[in-house]
Amino acid sequence: MSAAPRIDLHAHSTASDGTLSPAELVRAAAESGLDVVAITDHDTTAGWAPALRALPTGLSLVRGAELSCRWYGERSTLSLHLLAYLFDPEAPELVAELARVRAAREERGERIVALLRADGIDVSWPQILTGAAGGTVGRPHIAQALIRAGLVTTTAEAFGAAWLGERYRLPKEDIDVFRAVRLVRAAGGVPVLAHPLASRRGRVAPDELIAELAAIGLAGLEADHEDHSPAERAHVHALAGELGLLVTGSSDFHGTHKSVRLGAFTTAPEAYERIVAEARGVTGVASG
Ligand code: AMP
Ligand code: ZN
Ligand code: FE
Ligand code: FE
Repeated sequence: MSAAPRIDLHAHSTASDGTLSPAELVRAAAESGLDVVAITDHDTTAGWAPALRALPTGLSLVRGAELSCRWYGERSTLSLHLLAYLFDPEAPELVAELARVRAAREERGERIVALLRADGIDVSWPQILTGAAGGTVGRPHIAQALIRAGLVTTTAEAFGAAWLGERYRLPKEDIDVFRAVRLVRAAGGVPVLAHPLASRRGRVAPDELIAELAAIGLAGLEADHEDHSPAERAHVHALAGELGLLVTGSSDFHGTHKSVRLGAFTTAPEAYERIVAEARGVTGVASG
């Protein structure tokens, strides 16, 4: 009898803030013993084609993205990440939103660098853009500049309160999370809320909001993730059960920008099969 397939549905490449190219990512996934990997770069599908071209035999590739979203409450807003799987990469409204968010990320990055420079910290925006090499720019790229400048030694330290986590943290122009869920569904994709209870990143989505998203088309919740405590994982599993949502587990691999390894958390075959079945066949799962 063969072992259960190993399925990791959340990984980043150099198309955003990972450190492996899309081709290196799929090779590393195969070497890690994965049967299925999803490429989910922030706000872009630019990694899909190179990942497909390099797909090793025996590995299945789920084409996806991680959308920068925001919930707009009456008194405050909340940053949320929405994983979107197997959507049409040419759906015009979604394509336009992703382009807008990528541009907003560059504008925010430049403003963060201006804040740092105003405090006499010698980081260069052009160098940071070069470091991102055409991929979606994120704070991990600014973290690299802080490391190069000798101000911090690790990405984790750069995300501390003294730096990008608070002192030099600026919001970006995200996609309204309700609009994002609808756009992903309209593009034939399957939306799954990423690390919904990762409280050490800041305030998290209340159960009521998740229920509202489920009512308009959210398909699932990412439960097993390194940023969730065991109690948070258990809560996400229970909530998903109550709302009839599927549950995923994934590494959120970022190469050397994070310490987590590919396959550190995995998704059950039943949940993966539900995602594939719900996708409207726009792109399908590719097999190497
Ligand atoms: P941004 O998308 O520009 O807001 O930056 C957030 C990205 O940085 C996300 O992809 C996170 O995975 C990553 N990130 C957040 N906190 C940390 C941390 N402590 N160490 C490394 N990467 C982090
Ligand atoms: Zn990231
Ligand atoms: Fe995320
Ligand atoms: Fe991620």
